[in-house]
Amino acid sequence: MVGSQAQTLLIRGGDVVSSEEVRRADVFIRNERIERIGALGDVAADATIDAAGKLVIPGAVDVHTHLDMEVGVTRSSDDFTSGTVAAACGGTTTVIDFATAYRGESLAEGLATWHGKATDNAVIDYSFHMTITELARPADDLVAEMVEAGITSFKLYMTYPERLMVSDEVISEVMKAAERQGALVCLHCEDDATIAVRRAEALGAGHTQPRWHAQSRPPEAEADAVLRAIRLAENTGAACYVVHLSSAPALERVRVARESGLDFYAETCPQYLYLSAERYEDAPATAARYVCAPPLRDPHHAEELWEGLKRGHLQVVATDHCPFTSADKRAGLAGGGWSDFTQIPGGVPGIETRLALVYQKVVEGRLGLTDWVDRCCTTPAKLFGLHPRKGEPIAGADADVVVFDPSAERPLVAERLHMNVDYSPYENITVRGWPSLVLSRGRVVARDGEPAGTPGWGRFVPRGPSGRLIES
Ligand code: MN
Repeated sequence: MVGSQAQTLLIRGGDVVSSEEVRRADVFIRNERIERIGALGDVAADATIDAAGKLVIPGAVDVHTHLDMEVGVTRSSDDFTSGTVAAACGGTTTVIDFATAYRGESLAEGLATWHGKATDNAVIDYSFHMTITELARPADDLVAEMVEAGITSFKLYMTYPERLMVSDEVISEVMKAAERQGALVCLHCEDDATIAVRRAEALGAGHTQPRWHAQSRPPEAEADAVLRAIRLAENTGAACYVVHLSSAPALERVRVARESGLDFYAETCPQYLYLSAERYEDAPATAARYVCAPPLRDPHHAEELWEGLKRGHLQVVATDHCPFTSADKRAGLAGGGWSDFTQIPGGVPGIETRLALVYQKVVEGRLGLTDWVDRCCTTPAKLFGLHPRKGEPIAGADADVVVFDPSAERPLVAERLHMNVDYSPYENITVRGWPSLVLSRGRVVARDGEPAGTPGWGRFVPRGPSGRLIES
């Protein structure tokens, strides 16, 4: 709770925003749960917070993070402490990180590794997806074992042949098992054959700079892979979720698939909404900071993605938070410096800035308040089996609550943020609106954008069935 003695907390007079409505209401919290929401009058509480003029929203849910992940000789620069501290400062109270079972390793071993990274370290609640890189046993057995462990979503890669990619046959088998067992298949959609050809051409011509990273992974490679994913989902009846969708042609395929009635979903990320391939024209050392996959696109794609978010063709904004310091980017995957774009660790930071960046479109009048909450909080919780415990401001839910000050201003410079990285992709942006108070199960974990949490407070959340949007 707020103070060590307090058992009840009243958040008074804020505008409570759900995915469906905005209403002036008080929120009464007892211990770790929301007990009541409404006009509560002079109810007694151990502590009271005046939320007049503020928005009160459910803690945001980030379903795509890579904390403490080995990449080449380095690792993503945020671990489960620094990463969840930063998440909390920005209003995110649950993350779903990608546990990975590498080839030769059982899923249970991969999951145990990720539990080891997170246990006693997180300041907010967390869960895991499981990345499958081979089928050492029948897919039904693997999925059943993970569902039993509270892991109800699986990640499969259509690229990165060295360590991660699986065949369409494997995707199909996992989809069938997931469909039978109420799990969701998440796909990294980029067509590897296209990438392999373009990469070889670029390197053969001596093109080594970061801009060739983007040239080798064109929007068509994403759209082609999304189409394959749609065919596989059709054939298996499985629910399917495209991670980090980055381009207009891929979005168009998702839209058509959804209109045909498939349980087909897609997320995009702030980097694709705000940044463009112009970043790759910078000096190579700076351009390398923006190497991620899929790569940043030409600006018109971002316009389409915002429109897709508004219309609901895209259902989720997540971060794909995978930060590397400038030094780690410079050192490359093997250490000692990168000689071409294929040796640059891929990923950008974003776990702290997502909620405010999406809110800017609310400020501009292009996205509704309820859409903002829906895409950042409610739908991620529903799709990934966290609802109604997370993602919605309702009685009985965990008291993961953000008091959001719409008049706050915050420049998104590295010095004002808490991610363990020495640059910010958004340093030229000053956002309007920032969380003034963030609660995780009733405990203050951030205040005015500064850390107030305790490592170890965050718990693993076993998840229920994933992949269907159940009406609340
Ligand atoms: Mn990722």
